[in-house]
Amino acid sequence: MKMTDGILKKIQESMKGAMKGPFYEKRFAGIDPGDIRTEEDFKKLPFTEKEDLRGAYPLGLCAVSEDDIVRVHSSSGTTGTPVIIPYTQKDIHDWASMFMRCYETAGVTKKDRVHITPGYGLWTAGIGFQAGAEMLGAMTIPMGPGNTDKQITMMMDMKSTTLCATSSYALLLAEKITQKGVRGKIHLKKALIGSERWGEKMRRRIASELGVRLYDIYGLTEIYGPGIGISCDFECGMHMWTDYFYYEIIDPKTGKNVKEGDAGELVITTLEKEGAPLIRYRTHDMTHEIIGDCPCGRPYPRIDTLIGRSDDMVKVKGAMIYPSRVDEMLLLVDGVSSEYQIMIDHLNGKDIVTLFFETEISGKAAIETLEKNVRESFKSKIGITVNSKAVRMGDLPRSEKKSTRIFDNRY
Ligand code: ZN
Repeated sequence: MKMTDGILKKIQESMKGAMKGPFYEKRFAGIDPGDIRTEEDFKKLPFTEKEDLRGAYPLGLCAVSEDDIVRVHSSSGTTGTPVIIPYTQKDIHDWASMFMRCYETAGVTKKDRVHITPGYGLWTAGIGFQAGAEMLGAMTIPMGPGNTDKQITMMMDMKSTTLCATSSYALLLAEKITQKGVRGKIHLKKALIGSERWGEKMRRRIASELGVRLYDIYGLTEIYGPGIGISCDFECGMHMWTDYFYYEIIDPKTGKNVKEGDAGELVITTLEKEGAPLIRYRTHDMTHEIIGDCPCGRPYPRIDTLIGRSDDMVKVKGAMIYPSRVDEMLLLVDGVSSEYQIMIDHLNGKDIVTLFFETEISGKAAIETLEKNVRESFKSKIGITVNSKAVRMGDLPRSEKKSTRIFDNRY
């Protein structure tokens, strides 16, 4: 997004605040925030990674007196030490204000009844949805996750109009409602879905089975939590509440800002946060900025729905390959299963990409046609030519864990 003098001033203030805590005091040792006078100065500042935050456990990120912290949250540490984010009263209030704005953008009003299924606790999800809806003045139904039968009963009895959920849970609820044949007793009109990458197919199913309008909500615990951006009625990207933070889109490999509108990794600098300000925080979420004004007239800039995580991406011949994109591409080709593997090799000075996919189809001619279809689909959707090779169903390895699908043997 565009840098202005006003934003630079706010960044200086935010840096001053951040350097009152041990984390940035050490990290920015020798840097005077007053010297950050241009966009170029700002872009020389080092990025902050989640791994760095882990090293500050438990309260090393705290940039104010610990007496001024009113709550802590923790980001889901799947491995090792969690990250603890401390919040002041103002941080909590700012977060709720942003979240209230999300509801307003989705057209939710105080007359609505907001059914909240994300979890409560150290994790920021449930309580964020809750605080924003309360600030708006809507009736909240703080369900938390699980017990789908009870969710549906409450939804009918309380006449919930707005569902807050992850895409997978929204889909599960939709299927259960259809199964029970109670769709006619459900009053839902809108659903706010926590941003994760989700395919268009899933989206259409949730919308039509629940009979709701969907809104994508963005956020991450390190930067308040969910609710720092949301899509509007025009469904063309998520508006970001940039009065509270500044964002950049960078090339994850070089760390340089990409050309306006190009895909890259979202990097966020907080402008208002007191408890744990973050400067140039790498989210590892891949997206691109949407250029121009939104038909809704809101002044807030937009980023597109997430296309994946930069950690999962590989770059070949100038094209970015994400597992998620390949998933989507294969869905469009008839006769191909969802299992695949990609091998990238460097031979005779060239990068060679081979895509193995599974199929039940047999017969030489049929296989050749299928391989050709996959090759053409890959070229048109992802932009490079690959060798495509069909293998029999079950030939590719399965694993309980998220299996690695892309093997980069070039280095
Ligand atoms: Zn809009």
